[in-house]
Amino acid sequence: MKRIKFSNAYLSNGWAKNVVIGLDDNGIINTIEVDDDGADADLITGYALPALNNIHSHAFQRAMAGLAEYSTSSADSFWTWRDLMYRFAENISAADLKAIAAQLYMEMLKAGYATVAEFHYLHNCQDNKSDQMSSAIMEAASHSGIGLCHLPVLYMASGFGGLGLLDKQKRFSHDVEQYLKLMERLSSKMTPNQHLGMAFHSLRAVPEDALKECLENSNLTGPIHIHIAEQTLEVNDCLNWSGMRPVEWLYNHVEVDQKWCLIHATHLNDNEMKMIASSGAVVGLCPTTEANLGDGIFALRKYLDHGGDIAIGSDSHISVSIIEELRLLEYGQRLQHQKRNIGADQQQIHTGTNLYNKTLVGGAKASGFNNGSLAVGKRADIIVLDKNSPLLVATPTQNIIDRFIFSGNATPIKHVMVAGDFIINDYKHKDEELINRDFVATMNRLEKYLD
Ligand SMILES: [Zn+2]
Repeated sequence: MKRIKFSNAYLSNGWAKNVVIGLDDNGIINTIEVDDDGADADLITGYALPALNNIHSHAFQRAMAGLAEYSTSSADSFWTWRDLMYRFAENISAADLKAIAAQLYMEMLKAGYATVAEFHYLHNCQDNKSDQMSSAIMEAASHSGIGLCHLPVLYMASGFGGLGLLDKQKRFSHDVEQYLKLMERLSSKMTPNQHLGMAFHSLRAVPEDALKECLENSNLTGPIHIHIAEQTLEVNDCLNWSGMRPVEWLYNHVEVDQKWCLIHATHLNDNEMKMIASSGAVVGLCPTTEANLGDGIFALRKYLDHGGDIAIGSDSHISVSIIEELRLLEYGQRLQHQKRNIGADQQQIHTGTNLYNKTLVGGAKASGFNNGSLAVGKRADIIVLDKNSPLLVATPTQNIIDRFIFSGNATPIKHVMVAGDFIINDYKHKDEELINRDFVATMNRLEKYLD
């Protein structure tokens, strides 16, 4: 058994000093003692917080982040960005994906994410073996040390009503039988820090029969993710096709419960917010990507008032930063409503703290990891903020998380623990040079496809 003493730790009931945490061999917290001298424990100085789960990632898109920031017409939109993404996706091998994902996952760890939910639709490589691309993701996660909720994605159609796939979407495709077989094969390959979940690309990409067949024929216990209501065009297409809005359609056709994570869900009406909140499903917000793609602004206050759960993800990886995701989530609301502290509420008046707390709860649900709080029985996924960081020095404890989220442009995340092991020590990953070297070599090879 391991014992670690934190000078300051954020427990379920708030900040405490001299907290000694005992861990079993699987990295599960089995004791917590407050104000303990902990003479036999390793001392970690700094502010220890439960780590967040990144609930939405397309790893390969890390390689093209920032390359669609030029204008081709006054109507540039999500759909023009998607053309660049398709062109690039066609040329990525399993080895490329592994190098890109390892770099990305290391960046996520340094940004304070202990786990990632990889929404993986880049399946078929040149020799048509979808397992190789999933293996690349799993190996990259193992090498980096990040926890992985692997979400192979079912992608069958190019539009509502089962429209055939475009040529450039072909490498994303499976039929239901192939998909369920892939899931079965992958289920035997998971390591202790990895598990499987199911994902449907979107309602436009998965016909009703296929959606139902997968849900009925899988004995999976992990999370279920879907992109939904990200763009107004998608909402209008769904209305034209079915007479219903996407979230409304989903709830009317399948049983949505707390295992579901609705990615984006940007455009919701009141009724849809109520349905999501009462089902226990989580909305997976990706504020920097949603801003980059011009999706729209999520009605955060209304949704939280309905009792809805949220989680955050970095999606296209235009930014890999918890700080930036939560800051932008709040700032979008302030700009829209011309008010401050919209993410705070009467129970928790500190905006940064409240958003972080809510994201911890929703992130644990949406990723399927047993983490999200420093409590006995939970996995020890912990970040430690640097007490000597110029951004945090002389901060009253009730303001620590607010200051972490809202001040400055450097990360004060000094150490990151995943399942009881420190993976980031003193701001550094042990294989940082090696992972970075592979990434640079891969990017140099791919450069010709990025133009
Ligand atoms: Zn996405």
